[in-house]
Amino acid sequence: MDPFIQTHEPAIRLASFIGIFALMALWELVAPRRALTVSKPARWANNLGLVVLNTLVLRLLFPAAAVGVAAAAAERGWGLLNIYPLHPVLALALAVAALDLVIWVQHVLVHAVPALWRLHRVHHADLDYDLTTGARFHPLEIVLSMLIKFAAILVLGPSVVAVVIFEVLLNATAMFNHGNVRLALSVDRWLRWILVTPDMHRVHHSVEDDETNSNFGFNLSIWDRLFGTYRDQPRAGHLGMTIGIRDHRDPREVDRLPGMLALPFRGTVTGYAINRRQWPAPRSREETQDE
Ligand SMILES: [Zn+2]
Repeated sequence: MDPFIQTHEPAIRLASFIGIFALMALWELVAPRRALTVSKPARWANNLGLVVLNTLVLRLLFPAAAVGVAAAAAERGWGLLNIYPLHPVLALALAVAALDLVIWVQHVLVHAVPALWRLHRVHHADLDYDLTTGARFHPLEIVLSMLIKFAAILVLGPSVVAVVIFEVLLNATAMFNHGNVRLALSVDRWLRWILVTPDMHRVHHSVEDDETNSNFGFNLSIWDRLFGTYRDQPRAGHLGMTIGIRDHRDPREVDRLPGMLALPFRGTVTGYAINRRQWPAPRSREETQDE
């Protein structure tokens, strides 16, 4: 089955992308959660333009893609799951969960390290939050993600099927949890014990530092609960909160393709990243010595 899946991987992924995209777009049309602030056709054309560009860059740089790395690792017996074979179902579940954890750690990393935040803020600078936000990443971040994924596959040794399931699942959940969709609060409450829901991930797209630096999960919600980065709701509420990042709020800069591509190289990193917060100046030495 592996060679068949490996050969048809681009078609499988494209079909699932189009299917989920259509479903989510329809849901956003029928039951939107928030009113959008920027013209939707223009935003969509630019966000999707970035998706097409990223797909071309990836196919050009890494024609074998992640499945190719998994197949090569299986052939050579590299990676934990190839050295210590488990029951196929258990191996599949473990591989999908482990790859999801790697993505979670990577996401925390790109928020913490100032140079990486420059790349990742392209995703956060979107002034609205909808399913196309879930797919807009700077090409350099996409390449970095792919290299990290390759390393994880070489260490872990997941099957080709596990990698395809993981990638299709991650793509689907990213579009789902970035969806500008209304979901009954009771359903959201239950669902977010397992999956990251739109209300849960929207908190992560708030302009507020502490809210942006929470809910890093894209797929399983357990990692944020386990590692203490879980935030239930935004302070201003889902309708009152501001989406995006401070300092970059001009639609021409953050919602048009040339601006998005240039954004990592503009301005300085203030706030958000781990050591760039602004604190009040310390009091003078005399004042402190008095105490
Ligand atoms: Zn983020």
